[in-house]
Formats: sequence, C-alpha cells, structure tokens
Amino acid sequence: MGNYYKDNDDIRYYIEKGIDWAPLVAITERRSDDPDKHESTKAAVAFYEDILTMVGEFVAEEMAPRAAAIDRQGVELVDGEVRSPRELDELFHKIRELDLHGMCLPRELGGMNVPLLIYFLNTEVMGRADVSTMAHHSFHGGMAMAMLAFSIREGTTEVDASGKIVQTRWQDYIAEVVRGDAWGCMDITEPDAGSDMARLRAVGEQDASGQWYVTGEKIFITSGHGKYHFVIARTEQPGQSDDPMAGLQGLSMFLVPTYTEDAQGNRHRIVPLARVEEKMGHHGSATCALAFERAPADLVGKRGEGFKYMLVLMNNARLGVGFECIGLCEAAFRLARDYAAERQSMGKTIDRHEMIADYLEEMATDIQGLRALGVHGAYHEEMAQKIRMQLDFDPRLSADQRRHLERTQSWHAGQARRVTPLLKYYGAEKAVEHARRAVQIHGGNGYTTEYGAEKLLRDAVVMPIYEGTSQIQSLMAMKDTIGAVMKDPQGFVRRIGQARWRSLSARDPLERRVAKIQVASLGVQQHLIARTAGDKFKSLRDRPMGEWSERFLKNWDPKRDFAFAMLHAERLTRILVDECVAELLLDQARKHPERREVLERWLDRVEPRVKLLAEEITTTGQRLLADLRRRQAAADAEPMAAE
Ligand SMILES: Cc1cc2nc3c(=O)[nH]c(=O)nc-3n(C[C@H](O)[C@H](O)[C@H](O)COP(=O)(O)OP(=O)(O)OC[C@H]3O[C@@H](n4cnc5c(N)ncnc54)[C@H](O)[C@@H]3O)c2cc1C
Repeated sequence: MGNYYKDNDDIRYYIEKGIDWAPLVAITERRSDDPDKHESTKAAVAFYEDILTMVGEFVAEEMAPRAAAIDRQGVELVDGEVRSPRELDELFHKIRELDLHGMCLPRELGGMNVPLLIYFLNTEVMGRADVSTMAHHSFHGGMAMAMLAFSIREGTTEVDASGKIVQTRWQDYIAEVVRGDAWGCMDITEPDAGSDMARLRAVGEQDASGQWYVTGEKIFITSGHGKYHFVIARTEQPGQSDDPMAGLQGLSMFLVPTYTEDAQGNRHRIVPLARVEEKMGHHGSATCALAFERAPADLVGKRGEGFKYMLVLMNNARLGVGFECIGLCEAAFRLARDYAAERQSMGKTIDRHEMIADYLEEMATDIQGLRALGVHGAYHEEMAQKIRMQLDFDPRLSADQRRHLERTQSWHAGQARRVTPLLKYYGAEKAVEHARRAVQIHGGNGYTTEYGAEKLLRDAVVMPIYEGTSQIQSLMAMKDTIGAVMKDPQGFVRRIGQARWRSLSARDPLERRVAKIQVASLGVQQHLIARTAGDKFKSLRDRPMGEWSERFLKNWDPKRDFAFAMLHAERLTRILVDECVAELLLDQARKHPERREVLERWLDRVEPRVKLLAEEITTTGQRLLADLRRRQAAADAEPMAAE
C-alpha cells in the first residue's frame, strides 16, 4: 500500500530527530486540566506521526489516483454556483470522515490540537498528489484557525485559568468548518490592485446602528465559493495623495458570510459569484470573482488595522504555499527519476547519462534545502504565535517569566520572518523549474497529457504569482536585510569579522565553507548599502551643504533612494536562500553526522552560484538605472511641458 509520508526519508528525518519537539509540545499542550493531554513529548510525537501516516496513505491511495480526472474535468460555474468534479467531492467526503479539517484546533473547539507544523507537512504530502485539492483543503482548517487567531488578537476570546477556551467570537462558524459544512477564503485582490495594496478600493461602511457593510469587487479568490470571506476593504477614504489614509493605514479587515442556507438546505446568496476563472492549471481549485454590494460584515479588530490582520493571514499562507511548492517539486522529481531509471538511450538508462544525473541530483538537493527552510520557518512561526497567545492569556506568569517569554517570542518571530519570504520565493521558482525539468526528462512523452509531467508544469506556473509574487518576496527580503544592517551597523561589522574568522580557522572544513558563503553574502549587503548611501549623497550635491546632514539622515524615499538595492533584490534573495539553507544544514550536520552528505551536496551547488550572483550585483546595473532615471525625468517634465 502506498504512503507519501512513509516513503519520504527526508520528512521522516525531521519527525524522528530533526525537530526540537519538547518546547513545541509543551506550548501546544499548555492547558493544565486537559484530560486528553498527551502523557509525554514522546507520546505526542507518536500521535503526530500516526496522523502523518494516515494522511500519507490517504493521499497515495485516494488523492493521487483521482488527480488526473479532477484536472481534466475542472470546476465550473453552473446557475450561479461552483460545480466540482465528482472525484473532488468524493475526496472531501473522505477528508470529512477522517476528521482532518479541525486537526490543529484546540480540543475544546472540536479539534485534535496537533501543531501547525504537522499541518504544513501534510500540506506538502497532499501537494505532491494534487496541488488544487490541497489548496481547497487548506481553506477549511486554515480559515478556522484564522478565525480563532483573529478573535484572540482582538480580545474576543475568553480563556479560563487552566488555559481552556471558554468562548470565542466566531465559534459557530468554526464548528461549521470543522464539520466540513463550510469553508472560508481570503479576499484581497481587486482588478486594479494586486501587488500594490495601497490601491485597494472596496469599501467598508457603518450604518447608524453600528452594523458594517462591504461593497466592492474582488477577483482571483481561491475557494471563493466558500461561505466565510475575510475581506480587506477601505474604511478611511483618501483625501490628498499625501494623505496617510490613502495607503495601507485606511484598510480594515472584515469577516463576511456570503450566503445563508434555509432548513431545507437551499442556498440564498448575499454575495453573488460573478465569475470562475478558466486557468492554465489548478483545475480543481475554484478561482472566483465576487461582487460585494452592501454585504453585512463583522469588523475584525479596530478600523484601520486591516493590514496588520492581513499580515497574520499572509505569514501562514506563504508558509503554506512554500510547503505546497515542496510537494510539487517532490512529485516532479519522483516522476522524472522513475522515468529516467526505465528509459533507455544510447546503450543505457537515461538516468546514467551525465546531464540527466546532474539534473536529478540538483533537484533532490534543492528539495532537501527547501524542506530545511520550510520546517525551520513553520516551527518558529508557530512558537512565536503560541507564545504570544500565552502572554495574552496566562495570568499565572510572573513579571520575570513574562520578560523572558517576550524575548523568546521576539527571537522566534525574527527567525520566521527571515525565512518566510525566502521559502515562498525559492519554493515557487523551484516548483516551475522542477516541473519543466520533469517534462524535459520525459522527452516527447513529457509534452503529452499521459505521463503527468505537463500537469505539474501547468500547476506550477502560478506559484511565483499568487500569495505575493517572487518580485514582492524579494523586495521584502531585501528590505528586512538592509533595514537590519542600518539599525545595527556595529553588529553588522562584528558579524563580518566573525564570519571571516570562521572561514579561515574553523576546524570543520564544512563550517569553513559555510562561513565563506556568509562572508560573500555580508559583502554583497555591504556593497548594496554603500551604493545606496553613495547615491543618496550624490542626490544631495545640488542642495546647500547645511541641509546635507538633515536630508541624509531623514528624508529617505524608498522608491528613489533604494533603486540600486531594488534592482538587485532578487539576486540578493537567492544568495540569502543559499546562505540560510547552508546554516540550517550545518546545524543539522553538527547534531546528526548523516546530514553532512546533504550539506556537502548543497555547498557544491551554491558556492559557484553565490560567486556569480555577487559578481552580477557588484558589476552590473548602472546603465539600466541611468536609463530609468532619464525616463523618470522625462515623465516628470511632461505635465510641466503641457502647462
Ligand atoms: C490562481 C490564483 C489564485 C489566487 N488566489 C487569491 C486569493 O485567494 N486571494 C486573493 O486576494 N488573491 C488571489 N490571487 C491574486 C494574486 O495574489 C495576485 O495575482 C498577485 O498578488 C499579483 O497581483 P496582480 O495579478 O495584480 O499582478 P501585478 O501586481 O499587476 O504584478 C504584475 C507583475 O509586476 C510585478 N511587480 C509589481 N510591482 C512590482 C514592484 N514594486 N517591483 C517589481 N515588480 C513588481 C509583479 O511581481 C508581477 O510580476 C490569486 C491569483 C491566481 C492567479
């Protein structure tokens, strides 16, 4: 019998020894009076492994065999509602029987109290079989978790002294989702606003009784035929273009139920489905356009806090997409590897031809690097979120304990923040590359629909687009990296010194190699900062000298002053991935010698790549930036010429 968890040694490494379970189990099982609490960390991990084993078998035996039929038939809009392929309905019936929707929710809300990390690993396992079924599944439990997290954050969840949730604001909605009767979705994108959220125009308005209503058009909403929509809308209308409310500060988050059902189960839509997109891939996942027309809504938190709430949703969603990408890479790699082991060419199987062997080894190495990033990011994000909840609720904490927890929380949050854009960026780019390689390794067969490789490629292409494009992830990673250096320049100089010292004197040759990558990465960061500061100085040349200090220290315009860093943001991000994975694998190799081989493969791949990227960053870009500046100056002069 197939099992997509059991047949994956790398995931099993993490479950069996690569994760520091004790703190995660302790905080997940923090309720003192829970009769169903696991007796020990070991017992808890054994339970988590049972869940992964169950999901692994379900995915291999039920999900994978239906993927092609779901892809062929796809979802469609019929009489104003989405009709799903029969095979997709069958799968969701079985998922309901397995009780998977409430997996991570606390037991008192009908869940199994399993860590989010296990949920993310399940996401990978499911993504390996079919990303569109996996995506729809994630809009069930994931949205119920968001309802709970938002209610806790806004202070509408009540918890007793033992840590048990007594009541939470959207308890009935959560129960519906756990039963599999409803699901939710995340409505951000509009026709004129995708990456640039400051351009969002849907509005939230309040009547005299205090009831909120949402009006506006939302597009590209995954699983948008679901009942509960988290909608981001503008509550403060922009005045002048320099009005702070014109941008992200004027946005609020709402929870909007989009239909009701009567006792006979007939659905009455409050928000009609305007369209279901016809797409290149993800055929089992409905991508909907909706028209909100004064739809009654619950305001989440306070008005103007929408962006803050959205970031919470997005952090988890980006990690989720990262794991989805790993699943797709794993599918592409296995399909290609198995085909290459059978197909004969010029006297041997093609996996013994040098170039193909090289492709396959690189794919396997990328996947292990990505999984190291994913597990690290998910672990720290979950620890940060759960410690924050403990700080919010636990009245038994002393002032000292509170201070210690604040520091620990901030450290975990920093780790998660570093890794999340790197995982989303690299996972998405690799998903496309691996799928394309799977097609290539299949030759002509890869271009037909029979072998499954072309489906992987069609499904992969959207990954660098949704949940924040690759370019937006790169800008975020660059901004955080440069921002951290500017905040603590002495710390940065110290890090350079330490990395240089390790690169020369560390006893372990692998540690020296990792330190060399760190030196290269820090050198690139230094170059970007020096260039940015240099450009800023140049822009001050025409100003009176008396203004220099004030203008240099204060008047930074991110769009103008960071042009050089923005130009190279993606290259920097690739270096940051190479460096971060090398550090994570080194840490694993120190604890578990069998991981040295993985680190060695990673370093062999990334050492020349980092050199090339560093060379590109330090030697290219001037001509293009000068050209862009000329074009901007011409555009700025245009209205004046017209006057
Ligand atoms: C299948 C699918 C499912 C989706 N699901 C959801 C969902 O559930 N909920 C939801 O709200 N949205 C969803 N989306 C929308 C998705 O998040 C957006 O498409 C994405 O954020 C990009 O926005 P855009 O399409 O408007 O492209 P644009 O923002 O117009 O970007 C076009 C290109 O310009 C680049 N670009 C933009 N700004 C910059 C910059 N400053 N620097 C460099 N490059 C830049 C982008 O990276 C991109 O390559 C989905 C989309 C698809 C295709």
